[in-house]
Formats: sequence, C-alpha cells, structure tokens
Amino acid sequence: MANLYLHRARKRFGQNFLHDAGVIDRILQAIFPREGERLLEIGPGQGALTAGLVSSGAQLDVIELDKDLIPLLKLRFGLKPNFQLHEGDALQFDFNRLDVGPRRLRVVGNLPYNISTPLIFHLLDHVGLIQDMHFMLQKEVVERMSAKPGGGHWGRLSIMVQYHCKVEHLFNVGPGAFNPPPKVDSAIVRLTPHNELPHPAQDICALDRVVREAFNQRRKTLRNTLKNLMNSADIESVGIDPGLRPEQLQLADFVRLADRFAVLNK
Ligand code: SAM
Repeated sequence: MANLYLHRARKRFGQNFLHDAGVIDRILQAIFPREGERLLEIGPGQGALTAGLVSSGAQLDVIELDKDLIPLLKLRFGLKPNFQLHEGDALQFDFNRLDVGPRRLRVVGNLPYNISTPLIFHLLDHVGLIQDMHFMLQKEVVERMSAKPGGGHWGRLSIMVQYHCKVEHLFNVGPGAFNPPPKVDSAIVRLTPHNELPHPAQDICALDRVVREAFNQRRKTLRNTLKNLMNSADIESVGIDPGLRPEQLQLADFVRLADRFAVLNK
C-alpha cells in the first residue's frame, strides 16, 4: 500500500506510523475484536491497525484529522460494509453520534502523543458508553495512569483514570516499531471502566478541582496546596492529616476531600 500512496508523516498531527507486523499483531490480539462488536479507532493513519480491526467483522468507526490521509483510507476500506470514516478532530467528536448502547463501545488507537492526555479526559466524559479502551501511548503516560500512591508518577492523570477505570499496562513497544521512530518508548494500556465505581464522589467536578489544586504544587503539604478550597480543620474533619503531601493520599482520600469541598462550595 505504501507504494501506491506516499504520505510524509506530519509532526503536528503526532504521526508515528506503526510498521512492525509483530507489534501490530500483538496489539490486535490484546484487543481481540469480534463480529457484532462496536469499535471506534482514533487516528487510523495509513490503516496499520484498521486492516485487522475491519477484517474481524466488527462494526468499525474511525476518526482521522489529517485530510491528506482520507483518500488512502477510503481507497483501502471505503467499500467495506462494516467501516465508517469520520473526518475531524477526536477532541471535538461527540461520541453520542455513534448511537451505541451503554457500555458497548470499544475504543482503540495508536494515539497522537501531543494530545493523548486531553483526549483521555474527553473520553472519560463519555465513559458510560465505553466497554473498554486500548491505547498506544508514551510509556511514561502509561506509567502515570497505572501509578500507585507514594511515587512521583501518582498525580491527576492516575487518580482521574483510576476513579473510572481498571488500568492494565500490557506491554512496551520500542521506537523501532514506528516510522518515523518517536524519541521515547511507548506502551499499550487497557482501560476498563468499572461497572460500579469503587469510590464514588458526590460531584466529579469537585474531585477534579481538588486533585488539580492538590497537585499544582506536589511538594507542598495539603494545608498549603488546598488553602484556596478548605482549611486544615476541614481536611482533618475527613480523617486526613493536613501535613501530608498530595502524593501520599489514596484515591479514596481524595474522594473524601472532594465531598467535603462539594459541601463547603454549595
Ligand atoms: N493508527 C496509525 C498507526 O498506528 O500507524 C497512526 C497512528 S499516529 C501515532 C496518530 C494518528 O492520529 C495520525 O493518523 C494523525 O493524523 C491522527 N490524529 C492526530 N490528531 C488527531 C485528532 N485530533 N483527531 C483524530 N485523529 C488525529
């Protein structure tokens, strides 16, 4: 296919195309798409993963931003009855357009690394539609998503992703699997939304606000980082020592702080 259509990878679209057949196969096996399922691929590029997803027989929608890739995608997959192409920005995409039932959509993609974090937050806003997500991301981003409290990787991304999903760091992928090779290592992650939230917050916006504020200055104590939202007595009232640093808190601790903030903010 590459001989039929030459496309120069564009940095501004975060284009690093997968070309290692072994890695592509391993990703497809991890996803394991089946007939009758609803899949959404973000950033199909030249179709490295798309080909295997379409041939599984699953109904596949793809969203691609780079207009120059659209003719190639149409040529390769346009006649397949289970393929639907959407031109545009995945960050602006309204997932409700896909008309899938609750917990039916399987989202996949070798994501453009420049927008991967906002894209994940955008998807978390639609988590009720999603069965699972498989993404290629910078390894460091996957480490932050799957981090445990107490270390340097634990932060807003870990907490907000783990609030909604089980996180599995499946395997790492070196730069040589891509064309052009990225400067960093990559990894495949599986995110599976919880059927029931393990630590539900009264107000998810309050949780996001508290977590953002807390990690704005991660080296400082909660007493200092949260001073615009609540005082030490409020922090103590939910059983948390205001002298701790944010990275020492568990997800459940942040939920208790968020619930306190939601009451104070009423
Ligand atoms: N899936 C292909 C592969 O594995 O070879 C391409 C992966 S490449 C890392 C990222 C893809 O996302 C590119 O095709 C790029 O044009 C597309 N892309 C970048 N920003 C996007 C956005 N905001 N919405 C949809 N697609 C985007």
